[in-house]
Amino acid sequence: MPNPKKHHTHSRTRMRRGQWILSTPNLTRCPQCGTYKLSHRICPNCGYYKGELWVTKKEKTKETTTTK
Ligand SMILES: [Zn+2]
Repeated sequence: MPNPKKHHTHSRTRMRRGQWILSTPNLTRCPQCGTYKLSHRICPNCGYYKGELWVTKKEKTKETTTTK
């Protein structure tokens, strides 16, 4: 079985993991609805890409119960 020969300190583990770079996804504003979306992707909110409607959302029948 492969086993480490020497003890690995928590510091060394943390130093190694400190090199993991957290990168944020490239977000752009949707020209159709204005929400943030991934560039070169269809907008998840309105389904538009390059000014064309690609995906139509399935409208769920919401029961609006207003309690006043
Ligand atoms: Zn949109």
